[in-house]
Amino acid sequence: MRAAVLHGPDDLRVEDVDEPAGEVVVEVRAATACGTDRKMLLRGHPILGGYPARFGHETAGVRLDTGERVLVGDSVACGACAPCAAGRPAICRSPAWVLGGFAERIAAPEAALHALPDGLEFAGAAMAEPLAACVHALGRGSDARDAAVLGGGTIGLMLARLLVLDGRDVLVVDRHAERRAQAEALGARAAEELGSHDLVFEAVGRVEAWEQALAAARPGGTVVFVGGCPSGTTIDVPTGPLHYDEVDLRGAFHHTRDEVDRAIALLAGGEVDWHALAGDEVTLEQLGDALRAPAAGEARKLVVDPRR
Ligand SMILES: [Zn+2]
Ligand SMILES: [Zn+2]
Repeated sequence: MRAAVLHGPDDLRVEDVDEPAGEVVVEVRAATACGTDRKMLLRGHPILGGYPARFGHETAGVRLDTGERVLVGDSVACGACAPCAAGRPAICRSPAWVLGGFAERIAAPEAALHALPDGLEFAGAAMAEPLAACVHALGRGSDARDAAVLGGGTIGLMLARLLVLDGRDVLVVDRHAERRAQAEALGARAAEELGSHDLVFEAVGRVEAWEQALAAARPGGTVVFVGGCPSGTTIDVPTGPLHYDEVDLRGAFHHTRDEVDRAIALLAGGEVDWHALAGDEVTLEQLGDALRAPAAGEARKLVVDPRR
């Protein structure tokens, strides 16, 4: 079968590879791409586990054994480590990662699969993975009405939509006019700069953005850091706001199985309109160039159809 295989930083090849082996084999119908895939292509990533490596972690398709339509979850928590025992599988110490959606077929443990409701298209279903991370991030926040999201990429827009659905007053901050227009279309307000807010979500993944998010928190406020910065980076945290203003700083990483199911339901029910976030449909051969292309204009996710 054909698969996109990483052989090193920025060395992506579409190759004939052996059929995948595992508990369940799924024929991939849509695999969406995100910033993590771009990082994996250009810089590598710890969870790739060395080269050559398959990637693609937002994957929906059809089980070869039962014909059932499924989302292939990108990880299975171990269930045994301290965070798992404490009910926090999103930060499991030894999850089994399930990568390889950019291929004609992918093998996955049964525990990684989520059945899809009729009517939810595969491209929309694949977006349940990033949307689940946003469901998780929302849970890491406070119940403040005044919420801001720094970053109008697909994650920032999904987060904003969840906040709007939850009845919050939401401001999305992005320097791209096209993304501000997208934010407004889903019910948020939009601006080029953060003000002062009770709840701030950072959805950019750059040190400067983390510092801006921190600086925007009102006394008693909460900042949730959703975007991962390059490894090894640090931010300067002034002690004053943490102590005198009791500002809460919280990370948000990944998601739980229940959050994935919640995301699938939101996409299937239309509360989150995935069409507004779907971008170009590309082949495996077009994937590398599409991931390398600088992000401009509207925030939209690439959709790979490996059968094309
Ligand atoms: Zn992703
Ligand atoms: Zn665990």
